[in-house]
Amino acid sequence: MANATPGKAAILMFGPPGSGKGTVSKVLMARFGTPHVSTGDMLRENVQAGTELGRQAKAIMDSGKLVSDELVNRLADERIRRADCAGGLILDGYPRTIEQGQVLMQLLAELGLEPVVVFLDVDYNIIIRRLTARRSCPKCGAVYNLESKPPKAGGLCEADDTPVAIRDDDREEVIRQRFLNYERQTQPLVDFFAGKVKRFFRVTVGEGSPQENSERVVQTLLNG
Ligand code: ADP
Repeated sequence: MANATPGKAAILMFGPPGSGKGTVSKVLMARFGTPHVSTGDMLRENVQAGTELGRQAKAIMDSGKLVSDELVNRLADERIRRADCAGGLILDGYPRTIEQGQVLMQLLAELGLEPVVVFLDVDYNIIIRRLTARRSCPKCGAVYNLESKPPKAGGLCEADDTPVAIRDDDREEVIRQRFLNYERQTQPLVDFFAGKVKRFFRVTVGEGSPQENSERVVQTLLNG
């Protein structure tokens, strides 16, 4: 059911890898009826489809590093300008660097969208546990977790019976690299945004279920 989105907002889901940005974003999309734009999903779609862009991005993604600002900014700009984002959207995994943040702030100002930041704060040990248990469907992208949301018997996707797989960048040594990048390149955006946006929410997500954590974010956005 669509609900009143808080203003013409671009909700920026922000937090370390594995903090649940994607899961929460999907819940927000269902509640507010606005599109969910994930640069990670868009990049993976390009890898899957074997595009030139996908070929460029694959090796970088598999090593846990960030794809270049130039490439991601282009991908995001093209997507955010589409008509379905005019009334608001949820951005997941973008921006991830100060440079991306600057480009995005300009674009949102041009389009008349208000940036609303949701920072998901989560303990490192919880992240490692979650990401090593994460599986996803290579065909439809549905996300599972061996502990909290297992796939069907035999490890099959509930939607299309495809065997679920571990993401190439969800191996433990790569997770550590992604986390380091996050601390170095993405965390500085907290200060960047704190001085620039009117609505900035820090939501601590812990051991609770994805539904509980998502609901906490929904309530924060509606009441904050
Ligand atoms: P997670 O948040 O769990 O790390 P994502 O699906 O958001 O996963 O991203 C997976 C990978 O895609 C990243 O490690 C990075 O290589 C690339 N990527 C996604 N979004 C961006 C971005 N905004 N800037 C640079 N690289 C990105």
